[in-house]
Amino acid sequence: MEHIVIIGNGISGVTAARHIRKLSDKKITIISAETDYFFSRTALMYVYMGHMKFEHTQPYENWFWKKNRIELKKGYVTRVDTKQKTLHFINNDTLQYDKLIIATGSKPNKFGWPGQDLDGVMGMYHKQDLESLEKFAPNNNVCKRAVIVGGGLIGIELAEMLHSRHIPVTFLVRESSFWNKVLPKQESEMINKEIISNGIDLRLGVNLKEIKPDENGKVKSIVIAETGEEIPCNVVGLTAGVSPNIDFIKDSEIETNHGVKVNRYLETNIPDVYAIGDCAEQHEAIGNRRPIEAVWYTGRMMGETVAQTICKNRIPYKPGHWFNSAKFFDIEYQTYGWIWAEPKENEARFYWQHESEKKCIHISFDKNTKEFIGINCLGIRMRHEYFDKALTEKRTVNYVLEHLADANFDPEFYKLHEPEIVAKFNNEHGTNIHLKKKSWKRIFNLTN
Ligand SMILES: Cc1cc2nc3c(=O)[nH]c(=O)nc-3n(C[C@H](O)[C@H](O)[C@H](O)COP(=O)(O)OP(=O)(O)OC[C@H]3O[C@@H](n4cnc5c(N)ncnc54)[C@H](O)[C@@H]3O)c2cc1C
Repeated sequence: MEHIVIIGNGISGVTAARHIRKLSDKKITIISAETDYFFSRTALMYVYMGHMKFEHTQPYENWFWKKNRIELKKGYVTRVDTKQKTLHFINNDTLQYDKLIIATGSKPNKFGWPGQDLDGVMGMYHKQDLESLEKFAPNNNVCKRAVIVGGGLIGIELAEMLHSRHIPVTFLVRESSFWNKVLPKQESEMINKEIISNGIDLRLGVNLKEIKPDENGKVKSIVIAETGEEIPCNVVGLTAGVSPNIDFIKDSEIETNHGVKVNRYLETNIPDVYAIGDCAEQHEAIGNRRPIEAVWYTGRMMGETVAQTICKNRIPYKPGHWFNSAKFFDIEYQTYGWIWAEPKENEARFYWQHESEKKCIHISFDKNTKEFIGINCLGIRMRHEYFDKALTEKRTVNYVLEHLADANFDPEFYKLHEPEIVAKFNNEHGTNIHLKKKSWKRIFNLTN
């Protein structure tokens, strides 16, 4: 029986295994060095914040794997021998495969800062990071101050986590405004304010120079490169991005760049070896998509796709329209399509922000054709299906605004803003758009 071996029990590896099982009777083994069972990485923050226990982050009961004949092996793979189709483990075990799926995810970036491996310095990626955080920052008696280095989605989550235990946080962000390589100025500035209003000591435009140890090799302080200021602290969170976790295959014949290079079928240069999830790098561009996308749903989609290919229905990976969501303290963020930090030449923008509440929408559309290109929503939840359909059908910005009620996810909450948004657009663009009533038929694709 063909043996499919998957390295990594994250969303991509586990989705591949589940779908291969649905489609075939092949022998399946999933390997992980991190945990016995699959868990939701995105929920780690809620464990520290006390909203759930770690067990609650495991979507499947422990009996699920045996029942579905998916073998789980705990161990760290140190080497892949593609000629012998053999994996070598850190404890000298070996395992033969017929087909191999590399689904090893990401690891937090470290840039060679002095002191980056001291006790009390951690990333916020693996379950072990959560355990370190519990050890070094259980409360504000043990941890008098934490410093977070790197202003992305994981950095702000870590700030919220520490804040929930009343631990003072200094947040070092290299950019002049939070996440402004991704967010347009208005959204980025709204998030700066949100961070500060939560009592976080946000430092913009600064870099970490070094982390200093105490006499026991534990973090004592950090030094800021630009000013030389030394900030005493007990914990340093390194959240300056992530990169593919693929060091263990660097000596193999599998081709890598930043990630494991794959084609549209998620195949590597070596027959019978595939890569999916955060560690996979597309070497043929898929529209505007980034070659590596470290997000949950793309890992799941790649897992489904590779399962088809392995089960003799070779299909390309088609990620559809880009979307993403996150939470910046109390502000929910959703993005659909493309709305870059800076508009491209063909783009026009429309921005609406609520006068007093933390809510805004920012729409990007083509200057000439008026085609809708993308939207950011902060503090307002909108319907994914609506924008997905608008993008697929290449609707105009006028159409999108006219049917804004269809996009509305929280009617009571948000109804009041629609007329205001449309009036602002009409005023700025000399249009005469009238809001249409919400239509469930349209939403669920029954009519146009
Ligand atoms: C704190 C946090 C919050 C996040 N929030 C969001 C969010 O809100 N929305 C979103 O879309 N995405 C979010 N992400 C990103 C998302 O979690 C990842 O994109 C996703 O988990 C990647 O899945 P994966 O299957 O590719 O890899 P992973 O989940 O990283 O799993 C890979 C597994 O492989 C193991 N492994 C690696 N190398 C080896 C080896 N050599 N031998 C054995 N095992 C190995 C790893 O230990 C790990 O268990 C978040 C990430 C973090 C860290």
